[in-house]
Amino acid sequence: MDFNLINFSTGNVKQPESDQTPQHVKVLILGSGPAGLAAALYAARAELHPIVLTGTEFGGQVSLTYTVENYPGFPDGIGGSQLIELFQKQAEKFGAVIEFDRATGVDLTKRPFVIQTDNRTISADSLIITTGATPRYLDIPGERELTGRGVSYCATCDGWFFKEKDVVVVGGGDSALEEGLFLTRYAKSVTIIHRRDSLRAGAILQNRAMNHPKIRFIWNTVVTEVVGEDAVKTIKIKNVITNEVSDHKTDGVFIFIGHSPNTQLFEGKLEMSQDRYLIVDHLMKTSVPGVFAAGEVGDSHFKQVITSAGMGAAAAISANHFLEQEEI
Ligand SMILES: Cc1cc2nc3c(=O)[nH]c(=O)nc-3n(C[C@H](O)[C@H](O)[C@H](O)COP(=O)(O)OP(=O)(O)OC[C@H]3O[C@@H](n4cnc5c(N)ncnc54)[C@H](O)[C@@H]3O)c2cc1C
Repeated sequence: MDFNLINFSTGNVKQPESDQTPQHVKVLILGSGPAGLAAALYAARAELHPIVLTGTEFGGQVSLTYTVENYPGFPDGIGGSQLIELFQKQAEKFGAVIEFDRATGVDLTKRPFVIQTDNRTISADSLIITTGATPRYLDIPGERELTGRGVSYCATCDGWFFKEKDVVVVGGGDSALEEGLFLTRYAKSVTIIHRRDSLRAGAILQNRAMNHPKIRFIWNTVVTEVVGEDAVKTIKIKNVITNEVSDHKTDGVFIFIGHSPNTQLFEGKLEMSQDRYLIVDHLMKTSVPGVFAAGEVGDSHFKQVITSAGMGAAAAISANHFLEQEEI
């Protein structure tokens, strides 16, 4: 992908000049989601003059969402990209420099660490990785257009909007069933659509879901289109055995077919779990001293703005302690 061709939504972030001279920083932050921008705020207030590389998605996943109602301090909710703009402003106010650039390679074998980007080389005394995770998409017509308008990847975030509504859940693993069960607190009905005739989820979850009065299943079926203008109205579904296509009326589509942590850059360089999340301790330390990680890149469990931002703040505090101990 040609990074320079990407059209970013904000004009306020610095575009770095192509430059071969390595720039040195005390703290480099990879990622501009809630974790990265919270880390930037804390590192900037500690006068560590951090640089944040945004990656290709300024603001991260939350910038895709229409309204965030579970971030404290905003009793009436706030738009995802508006919230990110406030994070950005606050970090920049204390001197964080946010640049549209993307890390393409890292050398963590010695300090300072060397980070190759699309535009240049940066050396850093400490590194905070907040490259997040990407929900797996169905990649069907209507999905992106209606994200935040009925299509969701987070029941904790959006379940509340579907009080007494009919929703579908796509997927057959643990998270599909867990989130489906969670949605029964609000929704009138939850239809789980799975492409096979049996579930991958654990037996206890399966029993709970199968016996829940609000949950029903549609088997051997895939969703081929999400239809609606300002909100989801119907989905098109196809039975993979008979190839029969039909319309299914619904108010919401929750897609839980997995999340992929953005950790490809760190393969073989940092310890990872089996499902490729970075392993961090309670101080956000990774397996390499001086390298910290925060947010969804190391968290397959909580996956929220507030938890990611909290970890970002913690990572910056830890980076500060590390630099003090190293007398840098
Ligand atoms: C549609 C949707 C709606 C949501 N709604 C809510 C909600 O209402 N409330 C809530 O609490 N949570 C919500 N979430 C979850 C929340 O958005 C995430 O938990 C949170 O964004 C995770 O933050 P993060 O900073 O760890 O990572 P991310 O948000 O995933 O950000 C990762 C960042 O890393 C950057 N990056 C990736 N690779 C590189 C690289 N090589 N170099 C530099 N940068 C890189 C990306 O460009 C991005 O800026 C929602 C998620 C989705 C998908």
